[in-house]
Amino acid sequence: MPAGPRWNEMIERVKGSIRGTVQGVGFRPFIYTLARRHGLSGYVRNSPDGVEVEVEGPLAGIERFFEEVEAQPPPLARIETVIRRPMPSWGDKRFVIRDSLPRGEKDALIPPDVCVCSTCLAEMRDPADRRYRYPFINCTFCGPRYTIVKEVPYDRPGTTMAGFPLCEACRLEYEDPLDRRFHAEPIACPECGPRVSLCDAAGRPFEGEDPLSAACSLIESGHILAVKGLGGFHLAADAAQDEALKRLRSRKRRDGKPFALMVKDLAAARRIAVFNQAEARCLSSPERPIVLLRKRRGHGLSDEVAPRSRLFGVMLPYTPLHALLMEGRFPALVMTSGNRSGEPIQIDNGEALTDLAGIAEGFLLHNRDIHIHCDDSILRVVAGSPSPMRRSRGFVPGPVHLPEALKDLPPVLAVGAEQKSTVCLTKGGRAFLSQHIGDLHNLETLCVFERTISHLEGLLGVQPQVLARDLHPDYLSSVFARARTGCPVVPVQHHHAHIVSCLAEHGFEGPVIGLAMDGTGYGPDGTIWGGEILLADWVSFERAGHLEGVPLPGGDAAVRHPWRMALAYLDQVFGDGLFGLKIPLLDELDPGQVELVLQMCRTGLNAPPTSSCGRFFDAAAALIGLRRSVTYEGQAAFELEMCQSRTKTKGYPWRVSPLDDGSWLLEAGPIITALVEDLAAGKPAGIMSRRFHLALIEMLSEVCRGIREQTGLSVVALSGGVFQNATLLEGLTGLLERGGFTVLSHRLVPCNDGGLSLGQAVCVALQTTGWSGRFAGGDHQAGSGAVACGGRWGRTT
Ligand SMILES: [Zn+2]
Ligand SMILES: [Zn+2]
Repeated sequence: MPAGPRWNEMIERVKGSIRGTVQGVGFRPFIYTLARRHGLSGYVRNSPDGVEVEVEGPLAGIERFFEEVEAQPPPLARIETVIRRPMPSWGDKRFVIRDSLPRGEKDALIPPDVCVCSTCLAEMRDPADRRYRYPFINCTFCGPRYTIVKEVPYDRPGTTMAGFPLCEACRLEYEDPLDRRFHAEPIACPECGPRVSLCDAAGRPFEGEDPLSAACSLIESGHILAVKGLGGFHLAADAAQDEALKRLRSRKRRDGKPFALMVKDLAAARRIAVFNQAEARCLSSPERPIVLLRKRRGHGLSDEVAPRSRLFGVMLPYTPLHALLMEGRFPALVMTSGNRSGEPIQIDNGEALTDLAGIAEGFLLHNRDIHIHCDDSILRVVAGSPSPMRRSRGFVPGPVHLPEALKDLPPVLAVGAEQKSTVCLTKGGRAFLSQHIGDLHNLETLCVFERTISHLEGLLGVQPQVLARDLHPDYLSSVFARARTGCPVVPVQHHHAHIVSCLAEHGFEGPVIGLAMDGTGYGPDGTIWGGEILLADWVSFERAGHLEGVPLPGGDAAVRHPWRMALAYLDQVFGDGLFGLKIPLLDELDPGQVELVLQMCRTGLNAPPTSSCGRFFDAAAALIGLRRSVTYEGQAAFELEMCQSRTKTKGYPWRVSPLDDGSWLLEAGPIITALVEDLAAGKPAGIMSRRFHLALIEMLSEVCRGIREQTGLSVVALSGGVFQNATLLEGLTGLLERGGFTVLSHRLVPCNDGGLSLGQAVCVALQTTGWSGRFAGGDHQAGSGAVACGGRWGRTT
């Protein structure tokens, strides 16, 4: 036999197109090292849709190379596809890293901002290192990404680091494929990179060598400091100092809403809070969200941090600057977003100095621009799984992967609702949710909203073909959508969007029994929905039941003043008999105001009917005497959950009755009546709260059983802002699962309106491609016969 190369020693050349989160995560050096280890020549470069690699060498080596690419990518990389194509061999001698390809379709995914890695932290603390105590140290595996990127491909000139030319030492690291800072786009050092500075409220610079230790001293001595971070400014103060926090509350006009805390490390977190392993994992994950944890007895912090709550919102330092700041002598820092009440978080030095001047007593600034704001993410661990309340820094712009059936949808931009606004852009089988934008009530937030949309469209290279909006015609997001020309705009009912959002996360088409327990949302019948039981799939729904409607006296005023809701329920249940009830709340209210609100309720003037579950909680909280007025939506309901007693008790009686249209009415009367009896008997608030929760859990679970009997549906999807209530979520999930149901709840996006845009996008994308749902009833009312009710049922004692 002639001697020649065996088949697997033949020289071949293969081109690989790698898609996913592969830029800005150390992918090219990884490929470079790997190719050299396998003795392959060729090149690697960033392309607009990911990373392009060509390798040449023996086939066996090429095979092993591609196996390892997929098996052991760098920690932050997320490979979605690798497409291989044979190429004519070229005869390269070396393997090189080439310049990025600038044009073409953009499909590379920009990674989220990632917390500083332990190697960088160790260098920062090493007096011999040239980046000793340098607050902008980063590497290929850590540091800012989304908040500094202006355009793709992700290269330094396309970031806010463009204005910092590399010094010789940094350039060598940046260009050395074997260095851990090879092509780390935000690479910097004290020689060539950004710097921090400290100034007073008037913008006058502080004297002194080290702005960071001076900043620590300011905080230690009880001052409020504005700190420019990764995705915006924080207002920072010592969490153990009452006076500082009181000033912060009054200046920010933030009454009662808990402040977030930053602690040095897990050990410091343990001194103020009690948490399990799942919670510890979330705390120290690279996303570094704020995690809600149970307060530890004797935590030693001020009561001003989180009044009336059993929880602290805690995060660990996520930038080197924060790590240095946390060297100060305080047990924890309050780190609340640097904005005036209701406005977006500040990202610009000049604007912060003007806007926060009335709040902060010092400013810790730096000169690395934040291109797009990104608030801290917030989550709570429920039954061992993270339940996001705000999906923002660390997670955005990571995609939510949609099921296979949704792969070839047209690009849709969904503009969300009005509160906790986010937008969602779909591209192929992926949905990109924006960072938290805030409540769209003012011009500033609307500007951030529009900027976020164009930023996302630019990064993804997507021009939406269809827009999805909420059914509410007057939401600013709806107004924006209608004003944008060139695209059809499709409305989606609020609570259907909530349920679809949950379904999309789980890749489940439906049909399901969807429980949308929520604040308020526009119903197709012109009333305000919010305690809805829907039969739903991705594109259609039918109302199978709802909480009993009551007037919402004064509209938004009723949201701000839960006592109005309490009155609305009392009036509905007792009529004029309410004046004979022994309820402390009634004695405290101004008779003139009571008269006015009752008039609204009875005439229906400025009092649209609502079936909102959030408002039902508000009413209970006000009746129990927890809170007559609130400063943020959901405050009363949150405090109701927090005050629950752990004593074993029974839920209030409840009743469900059939309506003429074939759907179920979940009556409020029996619950309110029993609650009023407890009030008259002087029962403790904690017991009443517990009984209220138990009644809802039992009633909702029983309604699901009833619907299962009639429809055969046994999958339940839970969504809507009320499910931020862990007692309700955990209790209902448990009861349903024990009853043989499969329960879907949110793990990736919030159950509140922050996750709504995902549901809108998926629903509209499918509708435009001609999907027809099972419940495509014209007016979305019940009556298709899917549910046929029997008699009324319930528990009476
Ligand atoms: Zn690092
Ligand atoms: Zn340098």
